[in-house]
Amino acid sequence: MLTLAASEVWFVTGSQHLYGAETLERVADHAREIAATLDDAPSIPVRVVAKPVLTSADAIRQLAADANADPRCVGLITWMHTFSPAKLWIAGLELLAKPFLHLHTQYNRGIPWADIDMDFMNLNQAAHGDREFGFLAARLRIDRKVVVGHWTDPDVQDRIGTWSRAACASADWAGGAVVRIGDNMREVAVTEGDKLEAQRRLGFSVNTWGVGDLAAAVDDATDAEVDELVARYLDEYDVAPELRPAGERAASLRDAARIELGLRGFLGERKAIAFTDTFEDLHGLKQLPGLAVQRLMADGYGFGAEGDWKTAAMVRAMKVMSAGLPGGTSFMEDYTYHLDDDDDLILGAHMLEVCPSIASGRPRLEVHPLSIGGREDPVRLVFDAHPGSAVAACITDMGQRFRIVVAAVDVVAPPHPLPKLPVARAMWRPRPDLATGAAAWIHAGGSHHTSLGFSVTREQLRDLAAINAIEILVIDETTSLDAFRDQLRWNDVYWLLAKGL
Ligand code: MN
Repeated sequence: MLTLAASEVWFVTGSQHLYGAETLERVADHAREIAATLDDAPSIPVRVVAKPVLTSADAIRQLAADANADPRCVGLITWMHTFSPAKLWIAGLELLAKPFLHLHTQYNRGIPWADIDMDFMNLNQAAHGDREFGFLAARLRIDRKVVVGHWTDPDVQDRIGTWSRAACASADWAGGAVVRIGDNMREVAVTEGDKLEAQRRLGFSVNTWGVGDLAAAVDDATDAEVDELVARYLDEYDVAPELRPAGERAASLRDAARIELGLRGFLGERKAIAFTDTFEDLHGLKQLPGLAVQRLMADGYGFGAEGDWKTAAMVRAMKVMSAGLPGGTSFMEDYTYHLDDDDDLILGAHMLEVCPSIASGRPRLEVHPLSIGGREDPVRLVFDAHPGSAVAACITDMGQRFRIVVAAVDVVAPPHPLPKLPVARAMWRPRPDLATGAAAWIHAGGSHHTSLGFSVTREQLRDLAAINAIEILVIDETTSLDAFRDQLRWNDVYWLLAKGL
């Protein structure tokens, strides 16, 4: 399972030599205390590590170089307790390849009215020290998060935690492998994109293997391994009688287990963070992988069907961002509508590949025909998603840039049973309503594939986009279609110019 506990955010405090050694020692003490408090905060999932107070350009540049080189470091928190003349930061910030959050806080919460003197003023001067630093970051056009408030406030800690989750997802993308088994579904547009630019901008590599390589790994699974995995299925799910060991279709479940064993080993050998397959390229596999994909997603892998590597990467990022939180994240597709005057709903599903991390209750393991792909009937987990607020997000390639599109949705229990629907599904109401939400999504060129996540927030996704310097559009309860369409037009101009700003 994914964990963020080994990742680090470095707490970096700026000052200068003007104030003397005693003041700098107090600055260091305060920085260590704040870092320790943030490290202990339950809403911050990473380690927060205090670094020595920086007072020279050389030390700042060295800190940036160290951060760049340390794989545990996913980003910095910067804070100017006293005044740190920002020319000292030019070389370091230009060198820094990790994201940073500017924490605009003050060691003392309140002004000690009766006792305040110039010593207090000289120590607690983030109010203007952070403005000097903020100017330089703005002048350098560095997109960073700015969080304002006292360091003990839960809201401040939550926002730092949110950003640290996005920083972890970005670090996970950097150098991560998206393994494609087969190519894109033929003639589909939105699943295409510039894999080279994705590696440059987003960090992950995207490479393809022939399905025959996977088929060989599937064939290598032993009967003993299959026995053991089938026993686990029987333990974890409500298994249809025909798939149970004495059932007439027990062989289908054994085939599905063999596919899971092969696929799991195949991805592990390639250190994959996410993967894709396509029903158009199954030569050598008995079934389109259904159960295997569902279980691998539940273990933290990103997935995209029909070769959709961008959605696979988004599912992975959202799984990293929500690591340790309840609710789950799944590959998803807007499938069909319930158009009702009082309550328009979207029924989301896919042919098979919905992650059981979003299930309400215990999934049922079933086998049914699949009308496409031309292989044997695939085994799959069937369930309803649990209700709750969620986000659906995708990445599209707009030609000269990547764009994240996010929809805020409310997943609901299906108003009626769906006894004949042989796939896992989620039913949701988009915000502000279907007419506005779907129109905005379509104007934005959002994909029909998404990643649906319950603990992922719009703020996390905005932070992820900012860290990777890509566009993001959010459709939620505040969206007005006219303003959204204007935003699309302005963004087209901005992103053409942005590289030169
Ligand atoms: Mn699809």
